[in-house]
Amino acid sequence: MKQLLIHEIYQKEPIDQEICVKGWIKTRRDSKGGFSFLEINDGSSLKNLQIIADNSLKNYQQDILKLFPGASVKVEGILVSSPGGNQKMELKAESVRIYGFSDVTTYPLQKQRISFEKLREIAHLRGRTNTFGAVTRVRNALSFATHCFFQERNFYYLNTPIITTSDCEGAGQLFRVTTLDFNNLPKNKQGNINCESDFFSQEASLTVSGQLEAETYACGLGRVYTFGPTFRAENSNTSRHLAEFWMVEPEMAFTNLTQDIALAEDYLKYLINYILNHCKDDLEFFNLRIENSLLEQLNKIVSSKFITLTYTDAVKILSRNRNFSFPVEWGIDLQSEHEQYLTEVEFKKPVVLTDYPKSIKPFYMRMNDDNKTVAAMDVLLPKIGEIIGGSQREERLDCLQNRLKELDLHENDYWWYLDLRRYGTVPHSGFGLGFERLVKLCTGMGNIRDTIPFPRVPGNAKF
Ligand code: ATP
Ligand code: MN
Repeated sequence: MKQLLIHEIYQKEPIDQEICVKGWIKTRRDSKGGFSFLEINDGSSLKNLQIIADNSLKNYQQDILKLFPGASVKVEGILVSSPGGNQKMELKAESVRIYGFSDVTTYPLQKQRISFEKLREIAHLRGRTNTFGAVTRVRNALSFATHCFFQERNFYYLNTPIITTSDCEGAGQLFRVTTLDFNNLPKNKQGNINCESDFFSQEASLTVSGQLEAETYACGLGRVYTFGPTFRAENSNTSRHLAEFWMVEPEMAFTNLTQDIALAEDYLKYLINYILNHCKDDLEFFNLRIENSLLEQLNKIVSSKFITLTYTDAVKILSRNRNFSFPVEWGIDLQSEHEQYLTEVEFKKPVVLTDYPKSIKPFYMRMNDDNKTVAAMDVLLPKIGEIIGGSQREERLDCLQNRLKELDLHENDYWWYLDLRRYGTVPHSGFGLGFERLVKLCTGMGNIRDTIPFPRVPGNAKF
């Protein structure tokens, strides 16, 4: 007999046909009339399928009356329409086979609501809840749409290293990768740790960005994008930072900052349109249960033209407002209260800030003629804050060398990166989008820890 997913059953409505479904019990209700209702879910849809199990089934007493939430079953039967009921159709069971029973006294996912905090403690089971089922399906759709978007535009998917010896952002948020024995560290004469005897014969760490490596392939293949895990040991317990997150990083030869911004805007709108068209049930669920303005927000993003303004102009606007806890002056790194003011109060739509002071941006961004600002851009969204950070890269060898010197970075460490500027350099640009911030945007989930199956944050890498 053909096994169907619950999602296929709702789509095809094979009424009066014999089908088979497999899933987990959500609830069981016994009726006085001598039969039971089983609600089952298989993860393919937010919707459950209702099963009617009659007491004439041969294992009714022995098995079915012992089915509790969490148990796994295979049901074969005839799909019948159920006019008047809450659901359009139900499955009249001809056989119910139990794969695994569930202990009603200890199974944590029963009728009562559980807080998201509590669910993080049982992250191995939370994928069975309505919310995390929906988050997972939307996250999956966003991954797929990401590949579609870039593939349609002739970008090559590139896998950059996860273990790296180059610190891209220079922000010192690296996780070290080592096989040295902590109880017996090899030291040199000066008492420093001798990295030559370490696995890679030099200091290595987990990547904070694949950009520098992506640039090398963009300057040869034209357009590439990475989509992989990224690690930052930032000790910030916020609702928008993870220690391990996924980043999408396109990199394009022969482009300037304006084209980079245009790609970022197109990409975000493409993603949102994709889920509006492909994840309707899940988005309606989020809109009802998690964030009442979600659909409105998403529709607003796809229908608005993003505002672009320079950091300097943004600072002018922000300095008119004196109610910030971090006062604003030219040169500061903007705080989330400032970003919020711009996107939620001043413009009420996505804002792209450009041309930041060089002192708060990494060495590789292209220097502007004022020698004070760089060709950077951050995309800021209402409620989410920064979702994308990008720039036009410095393609002029002498400017890049000067910048390294200014920042006390060693040319030798960047020899291969400088080579790109020695041999056929081209203007090029790219950006990084934080994938979990995107999932947060698209689901309305309040905390980034609930946008990835197993979040890694300071003090916690369980599971
Ligand atoms: P923020 O100021 O919010 O910490 P950032 O300036 O450090 O961000 P970038 O280095 O520009 O961010 O990284 C590109 C994108 O990666 C960001 O726009 C954001 O979407 C995402 N991102 C950065 N750090 C994190 C993190 N710790 N957890 C999740 N996403 C992150
Ligand atoms: Mn950061």
